[in-house]
Order: sequence, then C-alpha cells, then structure tokens
Amino acid sequence: MSLEHTKVENFIDGQFTRSEADVLRLINPRDGTVIGSVPLSGNEELQAAVLSAKKAFPEWSSKTLKERVQIFFRYRTLLEQHVEELTNLVVLENGKTYDEAKAELLKSMELCEFAVSLPQIVHHEIQEVSRGVECRMERKPLGGVACITPFNFPNMVPHWTIPNALVLGNTMILKPSEFVPLSTLRIAELLKEAGLPDGVFNIVHGGKKLVEAICDHPDIEAVSFVGSTKVAKIVYARATSQLKRCLALGGAKNHLIVLPDAHAQMTADNVVASMAGCAGQRCMAASVMVGVADVQHIIDRMVIEAKKLVPGQNLGSVISAAAKKRIEGYITQAENEGAKILVDGRNATVPDKEGGYYVGPTIIDEVRPDMAVAREEIFGPVISIIRVRDIDEAIAVENASNYGNAAAVFTQSGGLAKEIIQRASAGMIGVNIGVPVPREPFPFGGWNDSKFGVGDITGRSSIEFWTQNKKTTIKWNPEDKTNWMS
Ligand code: NAD
Repeated sequence: MSLEHTKVENFIDGQFTRSEADVLRLINPRDGTVIGSVPLSGNEELQAAVLSAKKAFPEWSSKTLKERVQIFFRYRTLLEQHVEELTNLVVLENGKTYDEAKAELLKSMELCEFAVSLPQIVHHEIQEVSRGVECRMERKPLGGVACITPFNFPNMVPHWTIPNALVLGNTMILKPSEFVPLSTLRIAELLKEAGLPDGVFNIVHGGKKLVEAICDHPDIEAVSFVGSTKVAKIVYARATSQLKRCLALGGAKNHLIVLPDAHAQMTADNVVASMAGCAGQRCMAASVMVGVADVQHIIDRMVIEAKKLVPGQNLGSVISAAAKKRIEGYITQAENEGAKILVDGRNATVPDKEGGYYVGPTIIDEVRPDMAVAREEIFGPVISIIRVRDIDEAIAVENASNYGNAAAVFTQSGGLAKEIIQRASAGMIGVNIGVPVPREPFPFGGWNDSKFGVGDITGRSSIEFWTQNKKTTIKWNPEDKTNWMS
C-alpha cells in the first residue's frame, strides 16, 4: 500500500479496517506538510481488536516456541530486505535524519535476533523433589496484551515488545503514537507476509481515550507503555487498578558527569552526539552535563562540534510546532534566569522547508540546579551545563533528579568511573559513552520516575513480563505408603 497521503487504517484480524472515528492530520515535521490522517479510534474498534487477539490466542499459544520463532526468522529477513523503505518511512513521519532512522531499523533487527534465540534461553525447570515425585515449572503466555508506544522511535520501540511478546505465545494490540502511525502499518504487513496468523497482531490507532479504554478492558491481560512520565504514571495507575500487569517506561533527564581528565575530543564528540542525536528526542539523550572542576577545554570543543550541526542537513526536525515552541521556551527561560547561551538553536529555519519544525543545537552554560532547564525534560537538542567543584557535588546533582533513565561518566580513571557507577541513581550507566543503551541480551529500563513496574522491557527481563509460571507436581510410581506430600 502507498503510505504517503494515506488515510491510516486499523489492522484487525489480519485486515486493514477503515475507522469511522474522527481523524487527526498527519504532518511531515520536516516541512509541515500534511501527509495523511490517522483515526482517533474508540471502544468499538478496540473491542474488535481484543476479540481478534482473544480468538487467535488458543492456537497461537499452543504452538511450540520453536514453531513460533520460525515466523520471526522470516520477519527479520523481511526487515532487512525492506530496510531502505522502512528507514524512509521513519524519516517521513518522525523527521530524524536518514542515518538515525537506519540505526533504528538495525536495532529492530537485533531485537528480532534476541526473540528468535528464546528457545535457547527459555528452559522449563524440572527436579525430582522426593523419590518418584517431580516438580516442573513451565512459562506460559498471558493472553491478549497491549503495547502503547511513543513518537520518537516509530519502528524500534514497537520492536521492544512485538517479537518477544509474540514469540512467547501472547497475542497483541499495538497502539502507536498518533504522530507516527505509518511505520507500524508496514510492520503489520511484513509480519503477515512472514506467516503470522491473523489476529495474533492487531493495531488500533488513537489517543488518550483509546489508552484509557485499553487500561480498562477486562480481556487485556497486560499493558506495556513507553512515553512521558506524566502519562506513564496515569497508565500504570489505571492499568494496575484494573488488576493488570503493567510496565510503564517514562521520560528522562540524563546527566553526563565530565571529569577534567576525560579525553577532551572524544568527550566533546560524545556529549554533543548524545544531546543532539535524533534532535534530542531520545530518552537516552544527554540533557545535563555536570562539569567537575575545570572542564573549560572540553566545553570549548563541544561548542565547535555543536556548530557543525546544521538543521535540515545533519540535524533532523523535532516532532511538532508545539515541541519547537516548548524547547525554545526553555532556552529563553534559562537566559532570563541568568544562564549563558553558548550555542543558540532558537529560530532555526531550513531553506525550502520553512514550514518544518527545527531547533538548532543549543549549549547553555552556568545553569543552576534549581532552574527548569536543569530539572525538567526538554526533549530537544539542548544541553545544560552545571559546574561543580567535586564528585560529591556532581553526584548530589545527579541524585536530586526525579528521573533515573541513564547517566554517564567521562574520565580516564577506572577508580573514579567505578565510584560514579556505584553512586549514580539511574538504571543505565555509561562510561565514556553518551548514549549507554544496553545491547541485546541486556535489558533496557530506567529507575525512579523513568519506569514504573517490576523488571525491564527487553532482553531476559521481558521473559518474566510476558509469561506466567505453571508449576506442576507429578507422581507416577504407586507407593505402598503415603507421605506428607500425598
Ligand atoms: P507521550 O507520553 O505524550 O505519548 C506516549 C503514548 O501515550 C502515545 O501513544 C500517546 O497517544 C499516549 N498518550 C498521550 N497523552 C496521553 C494521555 N493524557 N493519556 C493517555 N495516553 C496518552 O510521549 P511522546 O511525546 O510520544 O514520547 C516522548 C516521551 O517518551 C519522552 O518523555 C521520552 O523520554 C519518553 N520515552 C521514554 C522511553 C524510555 O525507554 N523510558 C523511550 C522512548 C521515549
């Protein structure tokens, strides 16, 4: 199907299904043009998708793990065969650069590679607990589950859950961000082409009301959510109040602690790439640089590197006019409160794309910990520099954040790096790496207000989330006596 200028449809029971609901205009953020419309589906469409997932569950869950992974071997190959097309879709709807979008696709493939390895990892347990009596534990799927995803990784974040949850025997309803529905349509088509039975994977498009209906629906067994902390809290509270299993990943405010002994050029390159990659719209992006003692030589290089980023060339757009306004508002507020703007990305425009939503790279120095730019998630290509005297002060700044997705330290000292690894209050730590995303099979997930629920969303952790244990105690041999277990 052609996806530009498209009326986005739901995908239910293996078919694209037109919704009668009101629609939102779909905008290409790189130039502000309308590229389609997306329905704000309601209860009726959700109900159809839930029924479809429920109907498909018995047959899908009764297949062996080894049978289910065969589909994902084929699907992984299809992702590779269609990598250019899928990359271009991400660019179209999200606005990131081609290279950034392609990296997202490579990560989606890696997530599939983990899922197809699940038969090597998910062993059932068995033990003879008394003579002739054995206990065994098997992992069983939950049923129909739902996943709610954000705008910033239209292809990759859905792949945090689709391969693992389905390979483990669940059926699914995906609710993508209403800003980026197009990538998921091709995901549905390719899953079908790979042989996924109808009803195992469904998509319903919509916004707040649909999310609330997902949390409330009695036949959805578990909900995973990825998005802002504000909504993660709402979803976690609502889904668990309906006695569902829920894992809700929220926003971030990641601190990079830079020590004076750090390799200057490597650190400057990494900090700038971390804060400006994907236009700062990554939950792993650097948001605060905590400069310990004299790191002026590193900041000087950061300014040089940041100025090499040109909106519309090697820096993509932000997602919307509202996002641009919010980001620029934060920069202006910091300036008014006395911070020093070293590189100013406000009012960026791109020739021939004047309708696009661009913010240039921005470095703000002399930020105090109480300023909004130091505390709140900006989600744009902006870094706030807080200067401190020593490591204790740096840790105090990092620990004071409500968030705890990632943190990083730049130093050549193993001892100091280890101390910061120990004391930082974040789920994912980098040493001389600005975007410390754990690669498969290591799981992804933050701490504090960056995640609600137990465990992480990918890797081995996801096995716990998407399954429940069945414990069986078996005695076959007739015995002349009973014992306390009989
Ligand atoms: P968002 O919270 O606005 O939206 C996420 C999802 O929730 C979307 O599907 C949206 O339709 C839905 N939604 C929005 N408002 C809602 C409401 N009031 N009630 C119910 N549902 C609602 O997030 P976003 O702007 O799409 O994505 C950016 C955010 O996601 C950032 O905060 C970023 O840090 C975070 N994020 C976190 C991770 C992580 O791993 N922790 C990963 C990616 C993105």
